[in-house]
Amino acid sequence: MATYDLLLLPGDGIGPEVMAEVSRIIDWLNAQAQGRATFNTESDLVGGAAIDAHGIPISDATMEKALGADAVLFGAAGGPKWDDVAYEIRPEAGLLALRKELDLFANLRPAICYPALADSSPLKRELVEGVDLMIVRELTGGVYFGEPKEIVELGNGQKRAVDTQVYETWEIERIARVAFDLARKRRNQVHSAEKRNVMKSGVLWREVVSAVHAADYADVTLEHILADNCAMQLIRAPKQFDVIVCDNLFGDMLSDEAAMMTGSLGMLPSASLGSPDESGRRKALYEPVHGSAPDIAGQGKANPIAMIASFAMALRYSFDMAAEADVVEGAIARVLEKGLRTPDIAAPGTEVVGTAEMGAAILEEMEAGS
Ligand code: NAD
Repeated sequence: MATYDLLLLPGDGIGPEVMAEVSRIIDWLNAQAQGRATFNTESDLVGGAAIDAHGIPISDATMEKALGADAVLFGAAGGPKWDDVAYEIRPEAGLLALRKELDLFANLRPAICYPALADSSPLKRELVEGVDLMIVRELTGGVYFGEPKEIVELGNGQKRAVDTQVYETWEIERIARVAFDLARKRRNQVHSAEKRNVMKSGVLWREVVSAVHAADYADVTLEHILADNCAMQLIRAPKQFDVIVCDNLFGDMLSDEAAMMTGSLGMLPSASLGSPDESGRRKALYEPVHGSAPDIAGQGKANPIAMIASFAMALRYSFDMAAEADVVEGAIARVLEKGLRTPDIAAPGTEVVGTAEMGAAILEEMEAGS
């Protein structure tokens, strides 16, 4: 039986509250005699909690552990308590340092619309019910990082602002591989979104994605789509999509657009992946999309589903444990069908529960469904 090392970084605010529910699920998986793997977990500090203990948002020792782990589970960082610390050591810098040190260039944001929550989507039920798509966003290149990046005085009372959209072949190749590999674990379809009609980087993007596809992934269906049309199609007919791969800028926009289909921030998981090493293992960090929610921290009200679904992504994408991921995700869907809701997703006629009750109900459904 395989043994995997998981580093848990609960962080601040509701981070520890939602991470506690994941710990219970990990304990349960470890206790399953027929389990295909066991997890060694270690918890450490990040964000404001690390500033309080060490004066910096992530210590070298914690970073070493993250580099050595098979996957990192991250809760949330930040809160008003640390609003006045120096910019360089603000809590969120801990997460940015992790992304940089682990070279996490691929950001995966699924948008899943659970049938039980379809009515809380701003789109019509028939459009969103059953949506299950994944946006694969390039995270370390493109216009957010390209140089020159500046505002210059033109000397005539005017200024010029410049951002540079730049991609090299290898950057596009590696993100395309992530998208094609993911599609093979899903419904085998990739849409590659760019703006080749007006951007040179779009021309190269399409060329490289096509070449990677032809060389190694001809079994996956590939369609190219202009990013603006993709934005429109996500609203018009989101069920046509399986995996969408795009650059940093378009990924930022399209993933937020897709997120709105699912109802609440408390429902949205994410993953960030690095390059595979010699053994094929990718560095990986899994985290909910939401922050530390200081307005509800310490009240037992936080929705743990985004954190639990992030762990399900770890099972699926870091450990190849699709059956176990299905058990977790199936349990989430059934608990919602039964009408259990944390306050953020409550609706008339549903039963409002707290963080721990929601976690316990999901665990109970896992036991029933496994
Ligand atoms: P937020 O995501 O923390 O909260 C936004 C709103 O959504 C709040 O009303 C909150 O109560 C609600 N919410 C978020 N997650 C929820 C959950 N699981 N269950 C129920 N309700 C939930 O965003 P914010 O208020 O803009 O930021 C708060 C702090 O978190 C700031 O310090 C910010 O910098 C930090 N932050 C951290 C991360 C991260 O660690 N990845 C991401 C975003 C924001």
